[in-house]
Amino acid sequence: MSTSKNFSDKVVLITGSSGGIGAVTAVEFARCGAQVVITGRNADNLSEVAKQCAAVSPKGLKPLEVLADVSKDVDCKRLIDSTISAFKRLDILVNNAGRGMHCPITDTALLDKYREVMDTNLRSVIYLTHLSVEHLEKTKGNIINISSIVALKPVSTAFLYSMSKCALDMFTKCLALELGPKGIRVNVINPGAVRTNFLQAVGLTKEQSEAAYSERGVQYPVGRVGESIDIANAILFLASDEASFVTGIQFVSDGGALNANTS
Ligand code: NDP
Repeated sequence: MSTSKNFSDKVVLITGSSGGIGAVTAVEFARCGAQVVITGRNADNLSEVAKQCAAVSPKGLKPLEVLADVSKDVDCKRLIDSTISAFKRLDILVNNAGRGMHCPITDTALLDKYREVMDTNLRSVIYLTHLSVEHLEKTKGNIINISSIVALKPVSTAFLYSMSKCALDMFTKCLALELGPKGIRVNVINPGAVRTNFLQAVGLTKEQSEAAYSERGVQYPVGRVGESIDIANAILFLASDEASFVTGIQFVSDGGALNANTS
């Protein structure tokens, strides 16, 4: 159990919750009583996460599962519409879905990759936020965006990914100013390396991915890379009433990597 927080009666939508950080976050919200809405493109993975959520939910609440590709505007719209249609409210939006991208500036598919990363990591967040504001204003809810420490430290050939996350950080800060008067808090978390399928999603084998995490773990001051629960704990804190005076912040959760000048 990650937290003693109580999210009973809260409707929480977590994008990218068919795996990795998003899946663990959904399970933790469910454990704390929330009605969760989970979403991703892989139906089998989504069903598996749904089972885990229902198993830990104090009232046995079943998540709403929505198959959606957040890089598509119609899917984003359907995601919010389905949530409101099912539960008539939205309290917390976690914009977690994202993908990495290795792309040297000489890459011949540069502009396609640019569109792919920006549509997934940034445009989706802007549009989902746009669609959610009227509902979050009613519940005095909040938004948590998932960025990365590469928004704060350049990484060679990862400029597309870094730029998408950098823009997400600034989006968060601007939105915190705009939405504060509506009673909506907006925060962003910048994780260091977290052991998930993230690197495999950009083409590394399982072995290469594991080797990369092990190598980085040694360089991190805490002696390990992050686990999804580390980031889920930060998300639940920022989403909770305990953080009611916190908005527009970049919450770095990186085992000290940035200060150690590693990523
Ligand atoms: P994973 O690859 O393990 O999970 C990514 C999740 O996002 C999956 O549920 C995937 O679902 C979903 N997703 C990806 N693209 C889309 C899309 N177009 N439409 C809908 N869902 C999508 O990665 P993580 O859990 O590690 O990543 C979560 C977030 O954390 C990302 O924003 C990432 O940038 C960030 N982050 C991760 C770090 C790490 O080291 N792992 C470090 C710093 C930040 P499906 O495949 O079913 O569509």
